[in-house]
Amino acid sequence: MLQVAVYGKGGIGKSTTSSNLSFSLAKKGAKVLQVGCDPKHDSTKYLINGKEQTTVLDYIRSTPPSQRKLENIMLEGSGGVMCIEAGGPEPGIGCAGRGILTTFDTIEKMGINEIDKDITLYDVLGDVVCGGFAVPMRNEYADAVYIVTSGEFMAIYAANNILRGLLNFGTSRPRVAGIILNRRNVENEREIVERFSDGVGLPIVVDIPRSDEFIEAERLGKTVSEAFPDSVPASIYGQLANDVIAISTGVRKLYDPHPLSDAQLNDLAAGKAITVLGNFKREACHCNKVRRGTGSCASRGAVFAAGRVNDLPIIIHGPASCGYVMSHTQDVHFLTEMGTNPSTAGILRNNIQSTRMSNDSSIFGGHEDLMRIIRAEANKGKRTIMVITTCVPGMIGDNLDLIKKKAEEEYPGLNLVVVKADGNLTGGSEEGRLMVMQAIIDFIDEAREPVDMECNLIDDNFIVYSSGRNSEWTNRLLKDLGFSKVHKIIDNVFLDEVVGCKKNILNVRTFDDPTVNGMANAMAEKKGMKIFSEPLPKGYSDTLAWVEKVGKEYGIEERSQAVSEKIKQQYAEALERHRPFFEGKTADIISGILGDDDWMIEVLIDAGVQIRNYYVFRMRIGGGSGPSPDFESRYKDRLNVREMSNPLEIKMAVQESNPDMVIGGVMIGWHGQQFKEFSRDYQCFTHYASIEYLDYMHTMMTSAPTMGWRSWEGEEESKPETGKAEPVKITQQQIEAIKVMMGGHMPPKMEAALNQMKEGKMPEGVPPDMLQMIKSMTGGH
Ligand code: ADP
Ligand code: MG
Repeated sequence: MLQVAVYGKGGIGKSTTSSNLSFSLAKKGAKVLQVGCDPKHDSTKYLINGKEQTTVLDYIRSTPPSQRKLENIMLEGSGGVMCIEAGGPEPGIGCAGRGILTTFDTIEKMGINEIDKDITLYDVLGDVVCGGFAVPMRNEYADAVYIVTSGEFMAIYAANNILRGLLNFGTSRPRVAGIILNRRNVENEREIVERFSDGVGLPIVVDIPRSDEFIEAERLGKTVSEAFPDSVPASIYGQLANDVIAISTGVRKLYDPHPLSDAQLNDLAAGKAITVLGNFKREACHCNKVRRGTGSCASRGAVFAAGRVNDLPIIIHGPASCGYVMSHTQDVHFLTEMGTNPSTAGILRNNIQSTRMSNDSSIFGGHEDLMRIIRAEANKGKRTIMVITTCVPGMIGDNLDLIKKKAEEEYPGLNLVVVKADGNLTGGSEEGRLMVMQAIIDFIDEAREPVDMECNLIDDNFIVYSSGRNSEWTNRLLKDLGFSKVHKIIDNVFLDEVVGCKKNILNVRTFDDPTVNGMANAMAEKKGMKIFSEPLPKGYSDTLAWVEKVGKEYGIEERSQAVSEKIKQQYAEALERHRPFFEGKTADIISGILGDDDWMIEVLIDAGVQIRNYYVFRMRIGGGSGPSPDFESRYKDRLNVREMSNPLEIKMAVQESNPDMVIGGVMIGWHGQQFKEFSRDYQCFTHYASIEYLDYMHTMMTSAPTMGWRSWEGEEESKPETGKAEPVKITQQQIEAIKVMMGGHMPPKMEAALNQMKEGKMPEGVPPDMLQMIKSMTGGH
């Protein structure tokens, strides 16, 4: 079986050529199937008496897979030619290319391969050589590709694009059959097309004259070959049929695609000589740059943010799975990653819906799916609705502006907020979040006067605020200061609360962070809200200063002074309780991701702890975590700050320092060590964090000394077991490999140890866990 594709610009005569060719082949005794791959769906029209035929795409839209039958979409035409039309969406919406893919997939499932045939002919629109229209030119389909053109420049331009498309498929074998000249009677037509054919190195297989016989035949509902078998065109199609038969028997040569460059096309258009190059290089693809994503897509970021407004109807325009995954990851994020169960945990709320775009909608467009849900929400009385797009509507070109206009016309007073988060396939949840933040800030009613002693907290995710007891402490402090209510802009709020939030006098950023600052700036600039200069306070002295400043700026000095006194008293009590224990103990600190440890350093120092080393940990690979490059601390001069990028380096330094406590967030594994490691969480808001921290550390350090921790309160120091391990024999190659794994930087001590091991010796001064690690790196030998 030979598969032939006929490509060319729209209206150039592909269908005329295809159906005449099919008819001629059939006359010569071949069993032919013709598949029309043009949304115009008129490829086979004159093989079936000018009738319309049910297209595959219409059929699968109305018929469930189990009931589909090939005979419903395949008609027998003149000469016994089997006819199929792919069809496609209305012009301007949906994705016709995707339709072609679906058609091929569907007819295969319906058993097209089991039908007995000698030649399959694909009649394909060649103006857009997108992935879908390129399907027939894939290796598994077309064995031979004909390109129909006239002498018009646009037709030649399309012909050249088809060759480029073929080139991009990196064809495994020569497959271009040549050029079919279908005359339009432009001046010097033959000469122009010959120049093109010379340029691309392809023969002009046949030259079909322009003739009124075509129109006459069509009036009869027939092809020229059938209606006027003795006409010139009919005999030419006979020659073309012979050419196809020659290909099918392997006696006719096929060609590789060598499209013209843009410059050469310009030469052609200008009537200049085309410089023919010996070698044509494949043009570099510009879309394979690697972009650093932010873990998920813009749509998910947008849904994540918008979902914090409890009663805002959110429509995720996209496939059902997108909606599901978005809701799901939200829960997972909070419950497992953050280890917390904030108000936001129940996020799989019924205010989030998905348009559940199907395969059909990706071809025919998703407008109807979306309008249906918008109407349902609007009919419930909702007058603010947010639509967040996913990639699919973006790629198929759904027109959201049009939908907005239509919906708002249909429902007076409706505000359809469209967040176009589509099209970003490689990440950027931050982008989506910001888009939603902007939209939500737009909801705020500018006209409200700030009169209520209530507080708006500003954050885009409230993750830190929701961690541990941060929110509890913050709210307690605010209440003490007289702010009776806290509104989270935005988290677990209602739309009215957002709209009316300007009535609350205190606006505070939870954190000093670019996104949060961006929100605050927008609230100040767009809505005239007064934002308090300081973010929420962390630890003792920060809180004192914060309380004083709030007192001054909001005219509540008396109250703030009383609160300050209380804070001082609470802190002093805590120090009194814990100082006898901490006095003189030593600590090493490894910087956290936020690099904001002053509140913790403060309370440790106040309790009498000596901080020996402060390691600023910076990951080298990927540049992911670590504090900002400009490490800032008000204790900078009092700390021994050491910048390190290799966890093992830090580990060895800590071992050398051998403090009573190691506080840090780097996962190195300290098994068998004599000190405790305290991982840090983000419970740092207000002076309560400082007090709680001392309680926590005290409890931890006096708890049962398992895993070789140093023990306190009279117990014997337990010693890790050392020196019992078997020697490990490794090769130079393995040492090199470990070096590479460590980013090319190996601590000298480790290198020395490895060299000893290479000699089969038991290395000196290597702790068992490092030995264990080397074992696992070298495959345990
Ligand atoms: P395509 O399939 O490339 O879009 P068609 O085959 O449908 O183009 O042709 C478009 C119109 O041009 C048809 O009405 C057809 O009758 C007419 N046509 C095609 N080739 C010729 C020709 N050689 N002489 C006169 N009319 C032609
Ligand atoms: Mg056509």
